[in-house]
Amino acid sequence: MCVRLELVTENNELRIAVIGAGPAGVYSSDIFLRQLEKTGEGLGLGTKARIDLFEKLPVPFGLVRYGVAPDHPSIKFIADALEKTLDNPDIHLYCDVEFGKDLTVEDLLDRYDAVLFATGAVADRPLTIPGADLNGVFGAARFVEWYDGYPTGVREWPLDAEQVAVIGGGNVAMDVARELMRNADDLKARTDIPDNVYEGIKRNRIRDLHLFVRRGVAQAKFSVQELREMEKLPGVRIVVDEGDFDLDEDTVDKAGANKLTRQMVEELFAIRDLAQDMEDDGGTDYAGNPADRTYHLHFNAAPTEILGGEGTVRAIRVERTETGADGVMHHSGAFTDIPVQAVYHAIGYKPASIPGIAYDEGRTVLANDEGRILQCVGGERCDRLYATGWAKRGPVGLIGSTKSDALLIVTNMLEDLAQAPGSGRLAADRDPESIDRLLAERDVKPLGFAEWKKIDAFERAQGAKENREHKKIIDPEQMRRIARA
Ligand SMILES: Cc1cc2nc3c(=O)[nH]c(=O)nc-3n(C[C@H](O)[C@H](O)[C@H](O)COP(=O)(O)OP(=O)(O)OC[C@H]3O[C@@H](n4cnc5c(N)ncnc54)[C@H](O)[C@@H]3O)c2cc1C
Repeated sequence: MCVRLELVTENNELRIAVIGAGPAGVYSSDIFLRQLEKTGEGLGLGTKARIDLFEKLPVPFGLVRYGVAPDHPSIKFIADALEKTLDNPDIHLYCDVEFGKDLTVEDLLDRYDAVLFATGAVADRPLTIPGADLNGVFGAARFVEWYDGYPTGVREWPLDAEQVAVIGGGNVAMDVARELMRNADDLKARTDIPDNVYEGIKRNRIRDLHLFVRRGVAQAKFSVQELREMEKLPGVRIVVDEGDFDLDEDTVDKAGANKLTRQMVEELFAIRDLAQDMEDDGGTDYAGNPADRTYHLHFNAAPTEILGGEGTVRAIRVERTETGADGVMHHSGAFTDIPVQAVYHAIGYKPASIPGIAYDEGRTVLANDEGRILQCVGGERCDRLYATGWAKRGPVGLIGSTKSDALLIVTNMLEDLAQAPGSGRLAADRDPESIDRLLAERDVKPLGFAEWKKIDAFERAQGAKENREHKKIIDPEQMRRIARA
């Protein structure tokens, strides 16, 4: 132990690279520093580390900024918490630096003792039913990018359909449906949406939205918060199919055994009662005001085909299903065609692959074993490379679950470093400025935490002019100009 501690004092701090400044990357950086302080001495690693956090976008926070729906009130607190975590002299933010384009694995392994990939997910899992390639069929991810102002997303969105289908039984489907049904002024007042999104939603011609969930009420994966937000949409009447709420005893028992499922089912029954009240009042919204849009909630409804004419969507064909208490779904052979002119699918995200790192297509994650990156699926591990967050686990789980992931990965990293020679000081190049020189040679100009604060201050100032807390900038060039001003 004495020899190892001497080595630690002789050498400098541990050097860690984290790729991706979404919640997983930010929380992991923080947890690494905290765990090292707690356990590093005992492990012979010392207690100091420098973390360099690389993010391909000009701004940090990943899906917290570019995935979570703008009208989720909790989002402000999460973004604030992530920002506080980043305001740490041992964490160095390098935004606008893309792994795979600006930096390679070799560049990082030369300069860092370990590299942690927290690269998350941005793309949709594809919809594979016939007609999925028609004009007017959209993946949720692209629509989310539009309404959240993703720097490289599209700026115009066609909202000219009067009848729209949304496919999916989870929170992203709920988000997409809610934003499609929102009143533009209501959304603008309570969120940071940019002008192009406000103008787009203002022109939205939607009258009927049909949300299709393949399984039953007890098998959906909605959170209670999402359901409550759906209930309170101004100008929107909710319609349900009474038959969907006819649950057998086994299903009720099974749903009751899990707290989250029980709460979701109870909320869905509350929505059924609300829908009844809306009908009794002559077609009103939740507040008793006249509704001009209708939100149809269909369970046990599996879309099987999108029907088109002249290359565009005309209708969606849906098969009635039945789901047992065990969650097994049976097809009934009874089909209905519902006229729609646009279809959105929210059937899951897909974590991105990254150059030089094996990808597990089956699990849609970077090939890893408990966060340790593998040379190929089921193969040997790659020394000093790790994955966390959605890149490690796949696209499931809320922001909070990236924290528990982070603790597991960090513990593994520290154990591995402690067993490595030289007290874990494995990188040959230990000059902290070496990475800055390398990026400068490649004409890459990173934006750090101070630059992010300038962008944030600008967004707040723009918001204040309209009595809003924040207004998002969407143009990456404008972000760079503000950051460097
Ligand atoms: C539409 C949607 C809505 C959601 N709503 C909620 C919600 O309301 N509440 C909630 O708790 N959770 C929500 N989630 C889940 C939440 O967003 C995820 O749990 C969380 O963002 C996963 O964190 P992550 O850091 O693993 O990935 P991400 O948030 O995707 O972050 C990954 C980061 O890595 C960066 N990156 C990727 N590749 C590279 C590269 N090559 N080089 C450098 N950087 C790179 C990305 O730009 C990104 O910033 C939602 C998810 C989606 C898709």
